[in-house]
Amino acid sequence: MIVEQVWTGNAYRNFNYLVACPETGDALAIDPLDFTKCLDVAANRGWTITQILNTHEHGDHTGGNKGVVDATGAKIIAHKDAGKRIPNMDRGVGAGDIIKVGNTVELECLDTPGHTMCHICLLAHTDQPALFSGDTLFNAGAGNCHNGGHPAELYETFRQQLDALGPDTLLYPGHDYLINNLEFTLDREPDNTTARAMLDQYRNQDPADALVTTLAQEREMNTFFRLESPSVVAKLVEEFPDLGDAPDPKSVFLKLRELRNSW
Ligand SMILES: [Zn+2]
Repeated sequence: MIVEQVWTGNAYRNFNYLVACPETGDALAIDPLDFTKCLDVAANRGWTITQILNTHEHGDHTGGNKGVVDATGAKIIAHKDAGKRIPNMDRGVGAGDIIKVGNTVELECLDTPGHTMCHICLLAHTDQPALFSGDTLFNAGAGNCHNGGHPAELYETFRQQLDALGPDTLLYPGHDYLINNLEFTLDREPDNTTARAMLDQYRNQDPADALVTTLAQEREMNTFFRLESPSVVAKLVEEFPDLGDAPDPKSVFLKLRELRNSW
């Protein structure tokens, strides 16, 4: 499996992806908003885009579909319940479905509601696993829930699915929000030395050559994985006494999600 992370350079800071089979040159385009860049990358690498996967129905993830289909005839794949929200869908997928790319690549679909209720993440069971997480999980952050999502569902997705991923799993998110998210982590957990070091090292990184984190790193510096960190909990309890002295992880998650919206 070959992965190309395509930086769009747009205001929403979208990442698009091409996932290719090294034997056949078939490629899957994930959320190819900047279809011109995606088509150029494929042409330069000698790949043919045969499928598109939209992680979810938002326009900054689906807006390039037509451009890719017009150029390549690629088939559009998305969550089985996305229905009319994604025009011209060819295949609806759910939990456990497999997307094959060429001869060598198989990607497992995870049904990951929360950011929207029709959100798919893709998990590659490669030697080093990889997660294409759309707007569910970002570097040092989590998706918002104010355009068709539900924070409690996002919590369940984290608890039941993301928590189960192996520590060496590589994370390929739908946007570059690393720096803002690390600043939020440090606002919530000022003594997080991993987040501090990462912010110092990557503050001026070129998103066209972005850091790819592992789930092990995320668990150290992503607040939404640190619901039982004593300093995260202590600061929340101090600021929001209504949470009680020992809030459960779900209450912590929901409060963090709410704070991140207005931060
Ligand atoms: Zn979105």
